[in-house]
Amino acid sequence: MAQRLTSHNEDFSAWYNEIVLRADLADYSPVRGCMVIRPYGYELWEAIKNGLDRRFKETGHVNAYFPLFIPMSFLEKESEHVEGFAPQVAVVTHGGGKKLEEPLVVRPTSETIIGHMYAQWVQSYRDLPILINQWANVVRWELRTRLFLRTMEFLWQEGHTVHATYEEAEEETRRILDVYIDFATNDAAIPVLHGRKSRAETFPGAMISYSIEAMMGDKRALQAGTSHNLGQSFSKAFDVTYLDQNNETQYCWGTSWGVSTRMVGAIIMVHGDDQGLRLPPVVAPIQAVVIPIYRNDSEKRAVTEGVSGIAGKLRDAGIRTEVDDREGYTPGWKFNEWEMRGVPLRIEVGPREIAEEKLTCARRDAPTGAARFSIPRDQVAEGVNRLLTEIQKSLYDQALAFRDSNIHEPRDYEQLKDIVRDGWAYAWWCGSAECEANIQEETKATTRCIPLDQGAGKGKCIYCDKEAAERVYFARAY
Ligand SMILES: [Zn+2]
Repeated sequence: MAQRLTSHNEDFSAWYNEIVLRADLADYSPVRGCMVIRPYGYELWEAIKNGLDRRFKETGHVNAYFPLFIPMSFLEKESEHVEGFAPQVAVVTHGGGKKLEEPLVVRPTSETIIGHMYAQWVQSYRDLPILINQWANVVRWELRTRLFLRTMEFLWQEGHTVHATYEEAEEETRRILDVYIDFATNDAAIPVLHGRKSRAETFPGAMISYSIEAMMGDKRALQAGTSHNLGQSFSKAFDVTYLDQNNETQYCWGTSWGVSTRMVGAIIMVHGDDQGLRLPPVVAPIQAVVIPIYRNDSEKRAVTEGVSGIAGKLRDAGIRTEVDDREGYTPGWKFNEWEMRGVPLRIEVGPREIAEEKLTCARRDAPTGAARFSIPRDQVAEGVNRLLTEIQKSLYDQALAFRDSNIHEPRDYEQLKDIVRDGWAYAWWCGSAECEANIQEETKATTRCIPLDQGAGKGKCIYCDKEAAERVYFARAY
């Protein structure tokens, strides 16, 4: 490899940008703030997408598609919503060479247009619930952008549901929160904390927002998914009503929820190291890379034949396998490149491996060079499957240990200030927006989420010392 990566302890932000570019995940676009997702990055996104989509369908949801353009007047119907999104929207004023009668907004999110359609689709309680998800792109005019983390246009899924009662909407909101926790934990190998957002951090127009929050390698927080109980705000704005069993008109209760291409950024920042990406096997586009090693033509013949048998067995077992038989690159160069791209397992096959009927493996989850070992060639599929399971677990365990060792409970406000410089603080908070804003102003830390399970007890607000009923995580966030 031409040049070493910047060390992530030295300059996390430079390290991150270099990985995204050098692992071929994404590239800068000619339009400032947008990104080009390259095939390897897109395959990673597809794995995320598949993992979520399967879970949505298992919980009764279906996919649909709504238009990219939304009439400006729709956004204005829900006052908090327009206030929240107005500064960020891209507006189309001309089309076909003419000024439009009504400007169109490029969707920043689709509550409004979907609310408009639901008003027409819902008549009676028999039409409820509607459980629709959309895979789409959205545009939010961001000034400071970072590949995958914050881009003007990004890809995501947005779920939008309507229900007959508050209880059903709340149950749906929490069900999706569980789906996100399950995905993050088991597919992305990212340990997440979950809870309710503070009022200030609640989605514009929602009654309650829940989120999953993950700790990145630089100890900053990243909100990796949100699920909102919208109450009746959008139903009232768009007149989404139904006739109940007594033939009385009622407003519907709504939810919306989303996970975006930010999740790719989270995977990079949680698992990556100074050699590059480290991908959890469940979402890795390539799970095992086989590298043939030989010095002359006769070795090459034997090795190539052996490699094709091995790769065949792995693929038959459903393992996403790549054979790197490119000429003109040394094995060492290839090792570095696949380490950079985060492939969980490398398998080396040379004349010695062929003669001894075994394979040399190297795990990406272990420090470089520390984990080379052999597995018997006749058990390659079982062996690799077992290793991938172990790697998945080990990446999760490493991230969990890192996170838990960097969350502290401050005694007082002075200590909180110290903690959030390089970690998360879990502290009592009285719930006032003023304390929250002051803490943010003075420490740059925001409230991340209020855990649902608070246990018993009460405390004193870490800022104002008044009675506090709940504790919240404070951290600097992306
Ligand atoms: Zn307070």
